[in-house]
Amino acid sequence: MEELLRRSEKLTTVGQLAAGVAHEIRNPLTTLRGFLQLQLETNKLNTKHVDIMLSELDRINLIVGEFLILAKPQATRFEEKDVRFILGDVISLLDSQAHLCDIEFLTHFNIETGLISCEENQLKQVFINLLKNAIEAMPEGGQIQISLDYKGSGEVSISIVDQGIGIPEDMISKLGDPFFTGKDSGTGLGIMVSQRIIQSHQGTMEIRSKVNVGTSVTITLPLLQGRSDPPPRPLR
Ligand code: ADP
Ligand code: MG
Repeated sequence: MEELLRRSEKLTTVGQLAAGVAHEIRNPLTTLRGFLQLQLETNKLNTKHVDIMLSELDRINLIVGEFLILAKPQATRFEEKDVRFILGDVISLLDSQAHLCDIEFLTHFNIETGLISCEENQLKQVFINLLKNAIEAMPEGGQIQISLDYKGSGEVSISIVDQGIGIPEDMISKLGDPFFTGKDSGTGLGIMVSQRIIQSHQGTMEIRSKVNVGTSVTITLPLLQGRSDPPPRPLR
């Protein structure tokens, strides 16, 4: 069955988040400490151990990196940008990766202007997170539809629809919980970070999914100038 969620309503507090980060970082740190202790006591660290240590370090780096996106000082510098160009940039960035996975991006930009007030890099990060999830959900390849449409007169909607494995119903309510991942090497931070960024842009994010059919994520953002057509009727 299909389920719909307005996720920006369910956000964790900073305290919960900090506890989660501490927990997620402590695990790899414990592993690293164990191996160093082993080296100290037995002098028997081999290449396999070092490989594990490196991948644990990479994991810490990945987790810290995802949080830095939220904490960057320029995060508050909102500028007037056209969402068509921001999304277009991200699509070009990921195009070759998609191609390698036998995935085709199909774009439908049904708007004439998409001026919004935003922090460009943060918004790019959201589109990267969502497109990566879509790519990762389609191991056999397929198409990802990316559309821009007006919603009402004052908002733009951005939707990303994949033909991937989908999300089981009992998992949908957990999306956006920090560190909730269905992947072996996932961080479970992409959706949470994206929701926070969209919320700080006064937008909303909805996720619908059907197992073995696909997933659609729809973001709405306020436009700076409402849609220019139809023109306002002159007062007489
Ligand atoms: P990560 O990708 O690191 O696991 P995310 O927060 O980006 O973390 O996603 C959390 C989980 O939600 C994923 O692990 C995956 O199980 C599920 N998910 C997210 N997007 C999709 C999608 N487009 N199709 C299928 N599953 C998805
Ligand atoms: Mg992800």
